[in-house]
Formats: sequence, structure tokens, C-alpha cells
Amino acid sequence: VADVLTKKQRSYCMSRIRARNTVPELALRRAAWASGLRYRVKNNLFGRPDMVFVSARVTVFVDGCFWHGCPIHSVKPKTRAEFWTRKIGRNIERDAEVRDALAKQGWKVLRFWEHEINSELPRVVSRISRSVERGLTRAASGD
Ligand SMILES: [Zn+2]
Repeated sequence: VADVLTKKQRSYCMSRIRARNTVPELALRRAAWASGLRYRVKNNLFGRPDMVFVSARVTVFVDGCFWHGCPIHSVKPKTRAEFWTRKIGRNIERDAEVRDALAKQGWKVLRFWEHEINSELPRVVSRISRSVERGLTRAASGD
């Protein structure tokens, strides 16, 4: 049976369902920590952000390229194409719901693609730093 996903890729994809502590997440946390950022991982916020900066009201999500439909790396599986398209479409919708719900509660939502973590980690960390600084300034001014 021809299938664009190899067995290895498929098991990687399946393992990504609701997975926590993936390789890109861990790489980001390690780099963020090394640059002095202090965050929470355990949380009960809607959508379960991968990192939470409570005082700054900033949340960070790392999106797997396959599962969240990255425009660059999202391969369209040929078998069960409809199933995957629907599934990934639902994830994208859900990402938007999470962003809106958290924004309503005053959280800033930062989302990064897995490929950004892999290739542009310093840029990602500095974007988080800037958002956290802004959030802390906002909190200090009482807005
Ligand atoms: Zn990607």
C-alpha cells in the first residue's frame, strides 16, 4: 500500500497527539531558562500552554508542523487524505479558539512552529523575552 508517511513518521505523528515535553518544547524551555526567563510548565489554562509567565500574563505554545498545519512542512498524506485534512483543520480551529479564549482573560498568546524552534531558537527566545518584559511593565503600571 503506497503511503506518503513511513511507519516511523506515522508513529512520530501519533506520538504527537496531546504529547507534552516534545523535543522542540524541551529545547525551547532549556534556551529560555538559560537566558534568564522563569516560567511555569504545569498549568490548568485552556489549551494547556507549554510555558506560562504568570506575572507577565504571557503564554507560549509550540506547534508541531504536521499537527497544526504548518504552511511549509505540513505534508498532505495521500492515504486517508480526508481524515487527516479534517483532523488538522480541527486542530487549527482549536488553536484559534484557545487564542481567543486566553486573550479574553488577558493572556498574551505566543505560538511558535516546531521548525522555528529548530532553526531560529535565539530569535524565538528574544521574542518571548520582549513579550514578558512588556507584560511585566503593563502589570506594574496597573493596566
Ligand atoms: Zn514547519
